[in-house]
Amino acid sequence: MYLDYNATAPMRPEALKATYDALQAVGNASSIHHQGRDAARRVDQARRQLADLLNCSTGELIFTSGATEANNLALQAAYAQRGVIITSAVEHPAVLETARALAGDASEALITLPVGSAGQIDPDAFRAAVQRHGAALVSIMLANNETGVITDLAPVIEAAHAAGALVHTDATQYVGRLPLDLGDLAVDLLSLSAHKFGGPQGVGALFIRRGTPLPQRPLVFGGGHERGWRAGTLNVPGIVGLGAAAAAVHRQLDDEAPRITKLRDLLEGELLAQLPASHVNGARASRLPGVSSITFPGAPADALLASMPDVAASDGSACSAGAPSPSHVLLAMGLSREAADSTIRFSLGYATTEHEIRRAIDAAVRAVTHVQAVMGATAGN
Ligand code: PMP
Repeated sequence: MYLDYNATAPMRPEALKATYDALQAVGNASSIHHQGRDAARRVDQARRQLADLLNCSTGELIFTSGATEANNLALQAAYAQRGVIITSAVEHPAVLETARALAGDASEALITLPVGSAGQIDPDAFRAAVQRHGAALVSIMLANNETGVITDLAPVIEAAHAAGALVHTDATQYVGRLPLDLGDLAVDLLSLSAHKFGGPQGVGALFIRRGTPLPQRPLVFGGGHERGWRAGTLNVPGIVGLGAAAAAVHRQLDDEAPRITKLRDLLEGELLAQLPASHVNGARASRLPGVSSITFPGAPADALLASMPDVAASDGSACSAGAPSPSHVLLAMGLSREAADSTIRFSLGYATTEHEIRRAIDAAVRAVTHVQAVMGATAGN
């Protein structure tokens, strides 16, 4: 049972086919001959498909190698101009580490806002920070990768703009999971990644709203691709796969989101009923349809995952897997180290079935009961 869509989603059949077709074709999108123009046309179509999904214009999209690069590009360009970054304690490392690297030891250049137990920043604390620092860069994620908690971004944007700040959002986990309309959501900059919504790995985009007062500052210099923002021969198969995934999402999201929410609620409802000591992190906030972060007290996540080898889920976020420290997101929400270490993230997606969820529930209940018994017996020795 693959329940790790927040780490990466399986490629959608439409994206797989489009990527494969593009891999078979020859052509550099910058060449002027027939094959080059054909590659450029495929890239144009993908840009159109992504722009249609987000309701923005094609000229506002820069293709990158993924959301990590898009976040780096946005933050370094805006920091060079603004000199202050206001962010939150639960951002992905692709934002937090970039902000720390840019601000260095200048502690006044980086404001990291705490979150409450539901995983959201306090709107009053945010307003105070943005009023104190004026024309800063605000970078607050739209949905959290570990808990699925969604930020109510509209008031954040309003307060930030009133103070003269620019707003960037890491929407990597939101795009393709819920409808997003850039005609309504007035962010200046937005990052996304294809592999979270059924496109290939290694390709993403940065949205830069037309008219955003941001001087062009590429991270990668060279032949001036992507209107000078990101040099390098375009990854045509990856971009084409991203576009095809975006088009499939656009067609299917209205059906997918409620179906996935129902499956997530089934998973949580059964696990909490059968394992009453467990709790769902961020349950009081609005969350993405398919994400469930559940703490099973007395059952360390690594032992749990080893006891349910047929369930592919995650202990914390895969991006920091291998790092021995507990999840910074769960600690920021007030969990103890022990509770954070006893937390599993299940993330469902477009291909998840009810049968899989029912099997996963049985496997998880067995694993938690077994690990708790072993841990209890060990503690008693
Ligand atoms: N931001 C968030 C919220 C993410 O979940 C991820 C992927 N784990 C990233 C950024 C990085 O995306 P990519 O893998 O495309 O670099």
